[in-house]
Amino acid sequence: MSYERDNIRSLHAYTPGEQPTTGDVIKLNTNENPYPPCEAVMAAIRNVQADALRRYPSPNANQFRETAATIFGLAPTQVIATNGGDELLRLVITVFCNAGAEGDTSRRGIGVTEPTYSLYPVLANIHDTPVKSVPLNSDYSIPDDFADQMIAAGVGLVLIVNPHAPSGHVENAERLADIAAQLQGHAVLLIDEAYVDFAENDALSLLDATRGLDNVILLRTMSKGYSLAGLRFGYGLGHAPLIAALDKARDSYNTDALSQAAATAALENRDEASVTWQAVFDERKRVAEALSDRSFAVLPSQTNFILVTPPSNGPSNAGLSDVTLAADLHQFLKARHIFVRYFDHEGLRDKLRITIGSPKQNDALTDAIDAWLNP
Ligand SMILES: *Cc1c(COP(=O)(O)O)cnc(C)c1O
Repeated sequence: MSYERDNIRSLHAYTPGEQPTTGDVIKLNTNENPYPPCEAVMAAIRNVQADALRRYPSPNANQFRETAATIFGLAPTQVIATNGGDELLRLVITVFCNAGAEGDTSRRGIGVTEPTYSLYPVLANIHDTPVKSVPLNSDYSIPDDFADQMIAAGVGLVLIVNPHAPSGHVENAERLADIAAQLQGHAVLLIDEAYVDFAENDALSLLDATRGLDNVILLRTMSKGYSLAGLRFGYGLGHAPLIAALDKARDSYNTDALSQAAATAALENRDEASVTWQAVFDERKRVAEALSDRSFAVLPSQTNFILVTPPSNGPSNAGLSDVTLAADLHQFLKARHIFVRYFDHEGLRDKLRITIGSPKQNDALTDAIDAWLNP
């Protein structure tokens, strides 16, 4: 006897990047920031008093909300704190999509690009809401008729990851504003800005009242830019009525006292985190050039990772197909305790996604790649 719902029984659960437990590895597979969180964050955690743990935390992370609102020029009612950005993704699907829609795409499912963050369709399947997916152009830009296709499919929520994962491509704010305007009256647009700290521009201006958009939410996270993936703290910025709807559906105490204190300190001290972003930009350029010099195809990236295609003439690998080459290099690096991300997914099997690490880690990566190229 199985007791779970049919959609859960048939669910292909999300596959996170491997988290090796031995300390002696170079982890370039889950886009963590290679630098530690700033000292002010560690101090904020140490300063949490026993009494703050004895009591329930602020249900809506009020202090964080006010800090974020001030920094981004918004009202506190336009900010929601969540247990990682991933909780916000689950919440928007709960709130804006029908459940049990059983493949009927006229019933307010989600709309995504292909490829995209692989968690989106998994969350949709858990909620049992349909997924409409539209292929990106070959340069990973969004096709012109994207919004039209979403409206025709009757989706209730469109999820765009920008800067894009796993390519690193970025769409400018005006293009996203056009899509939001087209979707207005039909669907909510969530722009997943998990990697925004590593990009040249963001979509915050879509929340300007003068734009008159009532359907936009931005996702932000402390996991990447702020070196706090272990903390589990993310947040949404958006039109106040959308945030109020999400607020009704979240867990009563969805973020804890420690994470609220740390996340508030992290935002207040973002100048310190930005030093690590600069280091990542510099290393991103250096690694991209090093791999291009070794005949890898490297996509331009505005994130803390690069998507690369190994050269088909890899000397050690004559006769292997491009697809096998990427898988082969993935295994070769893993055997040397260097973890990068391989996606067994249409359009990505010939590629590897490599997180930008510290200079020393990146040197170890290029050394290992040289060993692979010249056995
Ligand atoms: C990392 C990431 C998130 C959020 O991650 P959390 O750790 O849950 O905050 C959301 N979207 C994308 C595309 C990501 O890479």
